[in-house]
Amino acid sequence: MPKFLLQSFLAAYVLLASVSVMAQTVTDVPLSDVAVKTKPAATAAKSAVQNAASEAAKKVPTAEEIAAERARLERMRAALAAERAALEQYKADLVKRQQAAAEADAKAEAEAKAKAAAEAKAAGSAASIPPPAQDDPASAKKLSPEDLQQQRQRAIERAKAIEKAIATQKAADAKKKAAAAAQTTSPKDKDVATMKLRRITQNKVKYVHLRDVAVNYGLTFAFTKNKSNKISGATIYDKTRKVTFSATYRDGTVNGVQVYFLYPMLLKNNEPYISEVDFLTCVDPLLRYKTPVKLGMKTIMVDAGHGGSDPGAINGSHKEKVYTLQIAKRLQTQLEKLGFRVIMTRTGDTYPTLQERAALCKKYKPDLYISIHCNSSTSKTPAGIETYRAVPVGGTETKGSKVKTEKQSANEFDANSSRLAYEVQKGMLAATGGTDRGTRHQAIYVIGNASCPAVLVEVGYLSNDAEVKKIASPDYQNKIVSGILAGLAGYGSFLR
Ligand SMILES: [Zn+2]
Repeated sequence: MPKFLLQSFLAAYVLLASVSVMAQTVTDVPLSDVAVKTKPAATAAKSAVQNAASEAAKKVPTAEEIAAERARLERMRAALAAERAALEQYKADLVKRQQAAAEADAKAEAEAKAKAAAEAKAAGSAASIPPPAQDDPASAKKLSPEDLQQQRQRAIERAKAIEKAIATQKAADAKKKAAAAAQTTSPKDKDVATMKLRRITQNKVKYVHLRDVAVNYGLTFAFTKNKSNKISGATIYDKTRKVTFSATYRDGTVNGVQVYFLYPMLLKNNEPYISEVDFLTCVDPLLRYKTPVKLGMKTIMVDAGHGGSDPGAINGSHKEKVYTLQIAKRLQTQLEKLGFRVIMTRTGDTYPTLQERAALCKKYKPDLYISIHCNSSTSKTPAGIETYRAVPVGGTETKGSKVKTEKQSANEFDANSSRLAYEVQKGMLAATGGTDRGTRHQAIYVIGNASCPAVLVEVGYLSNDAEVKKIASPDYQNKIVSGILAGLAGYGSFLR
């Protein structure tokens, strides 16, 4: 075969191969835009080259024809280079679009914290995809069939990598979904209404058998005895939960946190009973993994105790109203950072009446109400942290004996308030290392008249000279706030 013919065929082959790589690139990589944009031009170039090849085969061309042929091939090379440049531009645009999408994702992440992990994983997978093969338009005419083959291989590998990343992401998403489903379905809580519980009534108070309670929650029952080997109380427990009861006092413990019940454990014929109201409003909600009813947690009302004409407790120059507002504002800042809607009952040194505070709660319908106070005693000795909730109907104040008979708005939420009180108390103790004075019941106006789960925290004793110094410090105030936040997180995980 004459040399020029061989050259023509070789040139035609090179062009055909490169066009085929272009087509391969755009079809292997799932980018429909590229296919639409480049395929018609590629097809036109391909048929032009085919025509050139068949023309060359018909007759022996003249020098002019060869020159014309070369010029034509040159123009086609230029067209191909332009095509490559367009593809490069497209790739650059695609990277920009991906970056814009990543930025949008990051923004969405901040707004929907729950999706953060999944988004991060997606970004991670994308980063592991190898960069596209770099086609240099200037060196296009120098490309050998081997080079083109390599380019084609790189394009295929990139397409495979993208497919693999998509598959990996899909698998991770499915796994996460399954884990989330498992989290919400197990372990299972029993419906209280379906539980078989032996019941008795003693002094007009209804009781349920504590051994039956233990059985229904899958817990082990054990009596506790005093030094003279008499029954002093009982414990029900498993690996993650432990509740203790006293046969003499109302205070028990739940997972190590002091919890005041409404009645001591009753021993009848040496069998243990707890009051039904304690069981329903406190023991069940603290043993349960999830709430029986669906309640939200988006809007939180923060009540800084006292204010204005009412200084609250005073110890020298220390005034309770100052510290309750400081802590409330710190809590507001942190809650808002976390995306909660916060409503304050006061933001300055003013005194909204207790009725006005309760009215704000009814008006704004928050999901939770948290009132912040400092404790006080006539003695300098007492120190530590307490969390209060409303007295359930049929129960008494922790420091009283009068049985409550009239229902208040907050009594709709007794079970949730118990869980909230326990979680917040636990959180504050862990954050501060303070003395545990327990979760308690008291007839406090703003708590009883709240229209949502509500607690009042006593963050420490203003009357205690050592504790008041802590309460006045930003460090302790921040610890209290982080403890409350941890409590809210614990309470939130209990909501379905
Ligand atoms: Zn107070």
